[in-house]
Amino acid sequence: MDVRTVMLILAVGSFVFGLLLTIFKYSKNNPQTVPFWITAKMLQAAGSLMLYFRTSSFDALTILANTTLILACAYEAWTVRFLMGHNVKRRLHIITTAAILLVCSLTLLIDSPYRTGLFFGIQSAFYFLPSMFLTGKSNTRFWMRMILAVSYFVTGLVFLISAIICLFYPEDAINLSNSAIASLIPGTSFCIFLLSALILLMIAKERSDMQLHKIQKELMKSEIRFQQIVETANEGILIFDEHFKISFANNNMASILGYTVDEMLGRSYCSFFPEEQLDICLKQEAKRKNGEDSVYECRLLRKDGHCHWFLVSAKAIMDESGKFKGSFAMLTDINARKEMELLLEESNRQLTELSNKDSLTGIANRRCFDATLEHEYSRLSRSNSKLSIILIDIDYFKKYNDYYGHVKGDECLRQIGSVLADCINRSVDLAARYGGEEFVCILPDTDIQSAVETAERIRQKIQDLKIEHKKSQVSDYVTASFGVITVEYSPDRSLAEIIAAADKLLYKAKVSGRNRIEYGESIGA
Ligand code: GH3
Ligand code: MG
Ligand code: MG
Repeated sequence: MDVRTVMLILAVGSFVFGLLLTIFKYSKNNPQTVPFWITAKMLQAAGSLMLYFRTSSFDALTILANTTLILACAYEAWTVRFLMGHNVKRRLHIITTAAILLVCSLTLLIDSPYRTGLFFGIQSAFYFLPSMFLTGKSNTRFWMRMILAVSYFVTGLVFLISAIICLFYPEDAINLSNSAIASLIPGTSFCIFLLSALILLMIAKERSDMQLHKIQKELMKSEIRFQQIVETANEGILIFDEHFKISFANNNMASILGYTVDEMLGRSYCSFFPEEQLDICLKQEAKRKNGEDSVYECRLLRKDGHCHWFLVSAKAIMDESGKFKGSFAMLTDINARKEMELLLEESNRQLTELSNKDSLTGIANRRCFDATLEHEYSRLSRSNSKLSIILIDIDYFKKYNDYYGHVKGDECLRQIGSVLADCINRSVDLAARYGGEEFVCILPDTDIQSAVETAERIRQKIQDLKIEHKKSQVSDYVTASFGVITVEYSPDRSLAEIIAAADKLLYKAKVSGRNRIEYGESIGA
């Protein structure tokens, strides 16, 4: 094979190899890239091609070809250094490249074969360099490194000897140029091209496998760490897919709900919500789909059918394009606290009810009446409506007590309380014990006519109770007298004045014969 054919094969081979390295670099699954390698191969392809086309009469192309080949050697040396696990400083490789370009340009001033000798000399240095890098400390397989180191060394040696011949024995060099040197140099270049390509690929693969292994080990370590955190956490942890199906649950979460982790996986989050809380689940799912995070309280159904309270801190998981991919939730068990809160709420409610209730009759007490009247009167100030009040006093009740005794008297008060509760049944109305044997009703949005009708109904029902009262001077049974007043709001009229007006009417009923209703209206300011 003649020298030019070898150069052409070298050019094509280097170009194809460089191309393959480029494809490999931009392929998706490539775990790492090797810098300088592609440039080295492309420079080698260019240099070899130029040598293929050179003519002995055109020196500049030969110089350019040799410069390119030396640069290719330098880049390959940096590739080897990188593959041996060392960094190549940017400054070093820029200075080297500049120096090569400068020295090679200066060769224009020298004649052949000294120029060729200088080229071979520089090139030999860049072949010794990788052989030095390969013998240093490295994790890659010893035999591969050694074979390659020796190969680079031998190549460097061949170039060095050729350089010595050209520089010190120029006469011999001219004689030899068409035989030994001329065929040995391309032959050696071709051999080192094949060998370095093969072994460097193997080293790169081994290096990438080692890196992958290291990454996998790190990943496993961090997964174990994550598991430890997740399992030692007091919180329940859930991870959902984009359809809100559980894809991960820690042991703590499963055990609070009485399930095994496997039983929870694949189940929908909403299936853990009791029916009355389903809207919370749906609302939260919608928020998550919008990428919103939130903290909320909810009850989840345990396997035994009981509910458990949780404070949920939930986060949406979105991909790089902002698409919803699932969510993550940290659930704190707040059952004990929540049950205590509910108990407290209930006892507070009972306490409020008790503090507003008359213990003897079971209807509202004076305190409740005062608060309600104040509230209704202020409401009246914001409307054009009317408010009616019925004041009730049992007739000759002192005599009843004296004759039948206090126990019977109390019983009578209870029965009258029930009559009021029966007759006052609009939600806004209130029947209360005003004090002693006096009762009072508040009727918001009620005119005088309706109020009198209500009072009459009460009067009639009390009479219909037919509670014997031998000492009454108006009837054989217990009766009551009524003062009914209807008012509109006036800033000049106090509540005490309204009650006093009702009391006045009640007094009028008493003096007018008892067991009757007296009424009046206090309209306008
Ligand atoms: P009048 O027809 O004018 O109203 O005559 P009266 O006897 O009802 O007069 P007065 O309002 O002075 O009497 C109220 C009596 O009600 C006094 C008390 O014996 C009785 N009384 C007040 N509170 C209670 C109570 O809680 N239980 C019982 N059994 N009696 C009470
Ligand atoms: Mg009285
Ligand atoms: Mg009385």
